[in-house]
Parts: sequence; C-alpha cells; structure tokens
Amino acid sequence: MTGAHTLALDDLQELIDILSSRGYSVLGPTVVDGAIDIRPLTSVSQLPHGWGDEQDGAHYRLRRRGDDAVFGFACGAQSAKPVFFPADELLWRSRSGPDGPQIDRPDDDRPDDDRYGPPYAVLGLRSCDLAAIRIHDRVLTGRAVADAHYATRRTDSVIIAVTCTDPAGTCFCVSMDTGPVPSEGFDIALTELYADGPHRFVARPGSPRGAELLERLAARDATDEDLAHAASVGEQAAQRMGRRLDDTNLKNILYDNAESAVWDDVADRCLSCGNCTLVCPTCFCTSITDVSDLAGATSERHRVWDSCFSADYSYIHGGAVRESTRSRYRQWMTHKLAAWKDQFGTSGCVGCGRCITWCPAAIDITAEAGELRRVAEHREERRARQP
Ligand code: SF4
Ligand code: SF4
Repeated sequence: MTGAHTLALDDLQELIDILSSRGYSVLGPTVVDGAIDIRPLTSVSQLPHGWGDEQDGAHYRLRRRGDDAVFGFACGAQSAKPVFFPADELLWRSRSGPDGPQIDRPDDDRPDDDRYGPPYAVLGLRSCDLAAIRIHDRVLTGRAVADAHYATRRTDSVIIAVTCTDPAGTCFCVSMDTGPVPSEGFDIALTELYADGPHRFVARPGSPRGAELLERLAARDATDEDLAHAASVGEQAAQRMGRRLDDTNLKNILYDNAESAVWDDVADRCLSCGNCTLVCPTCFCTSITDVSDLAGATSERHRVWDSCFSADYSYIHGGAVRESTRSRYRQWMTHKLAAWKDQFGTSGCVGCGRCITWCPAAIDITAEAGELRRVAEHREERRARQP
C-alpha cells in the first residue's frame, strides 16, 4: 500500500474542489427519492451521512445507521453505468434551415439537465462496479469499431473507489472474485474508518494521477495502525456476503440444461419487466429510436437502453425469436453466466445483487443458478446409478 494517506472529511471536500477546478464533472452517492444514487456533487454535505441500506429480494430500504459514515451503505440503485453509458444518448439531431438540412453533433446543444458532461470524476464506486466498468471497456471499446460515445465519456475519467464496509443481503461479489476491496481500475481507493478514533479515510493511489491528487491534498501518511484497520474492514466485509453463487462448471450446466423444468418454474414468476437488466451494471443492450417534430423541421436519433426481456428485442423478419418469458429469462441468465465467458472472457455478472433487490418478483439469480445445478446434478446421479 505504498503512498497511502489518511484523509479527513475536509480533505474529501478539497479533492472535490480540485477536481471541479480542473474541469471535471464530479459525481457521487446522494440520497434521492428514498434511495442512494449517483448525482452531481459539489459538497461532502451531499454524501449520505449516516445512511445505510437494507436489501433483499424485491426489498430496498434506507436505514439510519446511528453513526456518521458517508459510505456506510452497500450499493446504490445504479452503478456508474448511467454516467458512461446513459439510458438515452442523443446520437445526432438534424434541422432543416434556409441552406438545407443541417446535422448537429449532440454536444453542440447540450440540454440543461446534461450540463455535467465529460470528463467525469466519480466518487464512491464499489469494487463490483469497477469490475463492471472493466467489462464495459472490453465490450464497448475493445472491439474493431469502438463505441465513440462511451469512449468519449470514459476518456480521462477519474475513479475514486471505496471499500465496502457493510455488504447487503443481496451481495455476492466474493463469489465472483470482484470485491469487496477495490484492486484495480481506480485512481484512488478509500476505506472509511469510523469505529475507533476520529472519522477518517485511508486512501490508496491506484494510478499516477491518483498519487498526484493525494500529494496535492497534503494529507498525512497513513499509519501502520490505520492500514491494519483498513485491511480488517475489507476482510470483515468479505465474511458478511449476503449471498453466494457457485460458478464452478456453471457454464456447462447452463449450456447442457436449456430444456430444464427450472426455466418453466422461473417463467411462472417472472413478469418480463426488464428491471434486472436496467439495474445490471454490465447489461448493454440498446435500441435506436428516431423522433421528429410534427412540422418535420427537426429530427433526432437516440440510442436507448433496451432489454432481452422485451418481446421486440429479438424481433427479426416475421416475428420475435424469443416469444416466451421462459426463453427470455433463459437467454438473460445463460448469456450472463455462460456465453459471456466465451464472448468476452469473463462472467457477465459481478455479484452486485441489484437484479435481486430490484426484481418485483424477488427472483434471485443465485437461487435460480443453484436450483439449475441441483436439478442437473441430481439427474446425473440418477443416470450414473442406472445399470
Ligand atoms: S427476473 Fe424479475 S426483474 Fe427480471 S424481468 Fe423477470 S420479474 Fe422483471
Ligand atoms: S446479473 Fe445481477 S448480480 Fe450480476 S452484475 Fe447484473 S445486476 Fe449485478
């Protein structure tokens, strides 16, 4: 942990001020409509002081922690996905003018509610969210033709990560080897300490830019006691995962059990609402939508989030390929936990648990994967016992 410093809350404010003065749009966790979500941040007073969360299947509640922790919640309603890969991205706008049609670049006329444009500095991201960003970097920019909009938003972005101190009942990042302590993909990683001594943050640099920012803060070097305390916070969080997903041989189990009765069972409960894909930090399916005004003077092309749970998403000539909820749920889970590995070299799940929390039917990807494994292994055992 070379170069680690110990920061006070005032140092975090100075960090926000420095980043703002360098032209960054600073974003971080705040309480919005009864949940924690990422919003523009100008002051540490906007952080969720003293708020924790309770999460379970179809259940999310904020709760008062009884202390003044600012990162004492598990994970917010959304990851950094809406920052770097917004739900509605204006690709271009055309207008008819006296000299003929004119095509505008999106940022020629940025609407007021999107004034927080790149470069971004995002504060408070969890280790699972960093893993999801690495996946999006691979999927969206690591291909022959990079996604220019995503690349623009990611360029020069600053990531201030945080060790999870209080995982939720839906968290399983340890199973997916993605947390709870940030290991890569950050400029600075904070571990919040509040249980003994003054409220403070052990800050580790993860890049030359992070090291330079920490030097600017003129904070004191972290003591051995603070470093040991920070390490134990991460170890304790790893022991308190709410859920577990056994990834062993899961790809083959999914591929070999496309006709399992487990898919019928989950289809009876699934509403095909798509919430799980909207909150998932790695889902990246989109559709293109064109809109024009009634006079025909302007038209816009937008890229909007879509979902493999929508019937139209698999529409090709003549109809949808995946007409049933059974086939859509199977597609989602099999892509996420199996085919993703063949396509992109990693699981498509980082264990954040959001799809469990925000599923109105409390469908749990860890439980469904476990049931598929149980049924498949039981069938194999019976088969092995047959003479
Ligand atoms: S699994 Fe849950 S969140 Fe996902 S589509 Fe079905 S009901 Fe909606
Ligand atoms: S599948 Fe669920 S638990 Fe896994 S990354 Fe997506 S939202 Fe998180």
